[in-house]
Amino acid sequence: MSTFSAPRGTYDLIPPDSAAFLAVREALAAGPRRAGYGYVETPGFEHVELFSRGVGESTDIVTKEMYTLTTKGGTHLALRPEGTASVLRAALQANLHRAGGLPVKLWYSGTYYRYERPQAGRYRHFSQVGAEAIGAEDPALDAELVILAADAYRSLGLTGVRLLLNSLGDPECRPAYRAALQEFLRGLDLDPDTLARVEINPLRVLDDKRESVQRQLVGAPLMRDHLCQACKEYHEGVRELLRAEGVAFEDDPRLVRGLDYYTRTTFEFVHDGLGAQSAVGGGGRYDGLSELIGGPPLPSVGWALGVDRTVLALRAEGVDPALPPGTRVFAVPLGEEARRALFTVVTELRRAGVPADFSFGGRGVKAAMKAANRSGARYAVVAGERDLAEGVVQVKDLDSGDQSPCPLDTVVAELRARLS
Ligand code: AMP
Repeated sequence: MSTFSAPRGTYDLIPPDSAAFLAVREALAAGPRRAGYGYVETPGFEHVELFSRGVGESTDIVTKEMYTLTTKGGTHLALRPEGTASVLRAALQANLHRAGGLPVKLWYSGTYYRYERPQAGRYRHFSQVGAEAIGAEDPALDAELVILAADAYRSLGLTGVRLLLNSLGDPECRPAYRAALQEFLRGLDLDPDTLARVEINPLRVLDDKRESVQRQLVGAPLMRDHLCQACKEYHEGVRELLRAEGVAFEDDPRLVRGLDYYTRTTFEFVHDGLGAQSAVGGGGRYDGLSELIGGPPLPSVGWALGVDRTVLALRAEGVDPALPPGTRVFAVPLGEEARRALFTVVTELRRAGVPADFSFGGRGVKAAMKAANRSGARYAVVAGERDLAEGVVQVKDLDSGDQSPCPLDTVVAELRARLS
C-alpha cells in the first residue's frame, strides 16, 4: 500500500495544534473587525498579470515564486502569492470606491502560495490575515493600521515583537534618490544578478540579506535623507501618532520590503525568536497600485500578518494563546437504553451552548472513561440500566473524582449551573 505525504514546504494543521492556529487567526482579525473593516474574500487564483503588474515584474515573488498554470481553456492563472492586489482588484471591480465614503476598509484571511525554498518559518503554503484601507491619504490611517497590528500581537501575550518603520518617499522625491542609490551601487563588487537588479529595482538591493552585500552597503545613500517636504511631514505625522498612543517603533532606513508597490510608510513586525525568517507581519502605503492595475488614483495603506509565524513566535516565547473552551461534558452510556437517554442529554447541552461529547461505538466502561478523561471534559455523565430505572444519571467530576447521582430530567440544568 502506498502512502502520501503533504507536498514539500507544506504542513497539515491537526488537533491539538490547530486550535492555537485558529486562536491566532482570530486574534489578528479582531482589530480590523473592531475598527470598521468589512470582510472580503477573493479567489485563490487570479490572472497572472494582476500580480506581475501589481506586485512587480522585478520582484522575487513574480519572477521565481509564483505557482502559475494554464487552464484547459488557455487562461494563464496564478495561485495568489499575496492579498493586496486581489483585494484592490475586487474593490475596483465592485466599484466600492464609488459606492460611499472613502476609505474603503477591508479585512481578509486566507492561504497564500509561494514557491520558496522551504525552511523553518518559510512555507510554500501559508496563512495571512490582512487589512487594507483604500482611497485615503491620512497619517492617522497609517497609524491606525500599525496600532491594530501591534495591539493584536500584544493581545496574544507576545512581548518580543519589534516594529520597524521607514518611509519610501513618493514619485516626487524617489526618482532622485533612486538615481543616487544606483550610482552608489554601480560602483560595488556585485554578482551579475544583483547588478541587473541595480538597474531594475535598486531599492531591493538594500534588502539583500547576504553579508558580502550588506558589508558594502555601509555609507549607501538613504531615502530618509532624500524625502521631499510633503513626505517628511507625512512620515512625522505617522510617527507622532504612534508615539502618542504608546506604540514603540524603531526607525529602519534600510527597510524596503519585497514588493514594488510601496510608497511612503513601510513597516515590518519582527520577532527575534524565529531565526532567519523573523518577519511576523508587514505592510505599508501603496498609493500607486490602483493605477498600475487599471484603476483611478486611490492612495491606500494596508498590512498582512503571518499566522504561521505568529504561532511560532508564541511557541518561542512559551506563551499559550487563550483557547475557547473545548469539551466540557462527556457522556458515557452503558447499554442501549442509556445510549438513547444520554444522546438526548448531549444534544440538549450543545443546544444550550455547552460543548459536549459522547462515547460512540458501544465501548466498554473502561475505554469510555479513558476517552472522557482524554477529552479534557470537566464532567462525565455516566448511566446504566439501574440508574435509569431510578430516573437518575451519575455525574462525575473528572478533576476531583467525586461522583453523585442527579435526576435525568434536571441534569442539563444542573451541569449548566455548575459550569457557568
Ligand atoms: P509579505 O507579503 O511578504 O510582506 O508577507 C507578510 C507576512 O506573511 C510576513 O511577515 C510573514 O509573516 C508571512 N509570510 C510571508 N511569506 C511566508 C512564507 N513563505 N511562509 C510563512 N509565512 C510567510
